[in-house]
Amino acid sequence: MTTVILKPHKEESLKRFHPWVFSGAIGRVVLDAAHEAAEPEEGELVCVQSANGETLGVGHWQIGSIAVRILAFGVAELPADYWLQRVRAAYKVRESLGLVSNQNDTFRLIHGEGDFVPGLIVDVYADTAVVQAHSVGIHRCRQEIAEAIVSAVPQVENVYYKSDDTLPFKASIEGDKVGYLKVKGLEVRGLEKEFWSMENGLAFRIDWLRGQKTGFFVDQRENRALVERYAAGREVLNMFCYTGGFSLYALRGGARTVDSVDVSQKAIDLVNINVAKNFPKAKNHTAVAADAFEYLSAQKAQGKTYDLIILDPPAFAKHRDAVKNALRGYQRINAKAIEMIRPGGILFTFSCSQAVDKEAFRLAVFSAAASVGRNVRILHQLHQPQDHPINIYHPEGEYLKGLVLYIE
Ligand code: SAH
Repeated sequence: MTTVILKPHKEESLKRFHPWVFSGAIGRVVLDAAHEAAEPEEGELVCVQSANGETLGVGHWQIGSIAVRILAFGVAELPADYWLQRVRAAYKVRESLGLVSNQNDTFRLIHGEGDFVPGLIVDVYADTAVVQAHSVGIHRCRQEIAEAIVSAVPQVENVYYKSDDTLPFKASIEGDKVGYLKVKGLEVRGLEKEFWSMENGLAFRIDWLRGQKTGFFVDQRENRALVERYAAGREVLNMFCYTGGFSLYALRGGARTVDSVDVSQKAIDLVNINVAKNFPKAKNHTAVAADAFEYLSAQKAQGKTYDLIILDPPAFAKHRDAVKNALRGYQRINAKAIEMIRPGGILFTFSCSQAVDKEAFRLAVFSAAASVGRNVRILHQLHQPQDHPINIYHPEGEYLKGLVLYIE
């Protein structure tokens, strides 16, 4: 195996189990005999050593500023059953947290660094696991990963691989980035079959083939449950609703009316399907395909107000250099929403941009409240749920944050 030798004193962060080796920390690379090129191949398994020759761990080589992502610390090679061990451990956590039942068969099984597997995301929807690779190393291991999931998770019978948007853009990649992975002895599901998955007793139609990300936003489950507690008797606006997660909980919580808005017509079609499935008699729900900013301006012009608004926009900042603009975006949308909330109403507001930290987001919402001159109290500070854990040695894993505000 190729060995990556760090510069003197650059082993400290690895000794504290931070899973990334930055290219600037590397002293030299000793390629194994099989190499013709001058560099390791992207996605290759490499062993990392300190300048003194101490073994620090094994990981996937990557081209870019993060040069190695460590899969196992303190060993020179991965155990033969590495994937099975990792998937079993992750499943055990979800099971012990009560996330696996006939009322809830929708959960994130593996959350990258948070489950000590950099670059791998796996979401489970009833009998299907959707696997996403964020590195070429994980892409190369997709078949082994699929087999480990099927052996470790009793409910899973299909594994769909969906990495067209997540693999490094410039990498030369062998094999398909999208498609069902065939695991010995299992039928592959027909592509067009209608598919339902349960979250806290609510049924959701999941379309991993055409949907965003792995097909559903599993990360809002606990925050949706909190909306249910606040919904009774209120007129609710679910902005950036996607397939209507928050809307279904608000309806179950006894909301007087629920309006769901998303710019994507496909998402709105799914919201309607989901509402009809769970609340066939509901007459108090409407779904509109519209741009959020335009919708709020148009509603305001007509004097419309709400008792509870949910704002769950897509990541406004995908990179550090976009943070300033993103904060302006959060401020604008929150100001527009706060203006439309009746006295005594509630705002659930979120940011899923990893690059925008808690404090910066809170400050943007604070500026929004001040700009419209309302008294605002923070009732809850929300974050990502327990199946999206943050590895304590990798604080970069924190991304979802939310505030629940009482608007006077
Ligand atoms: N709240 C959702 C997830 C939201 S993801 C849930 O619980 O599942 C963000 C959503 O914002 C996407 O569905 C995307 O289509 C939508 N979106 C993006 N830009 C938008 C815009 N300008 N106006 C309205 N919706 C937008």
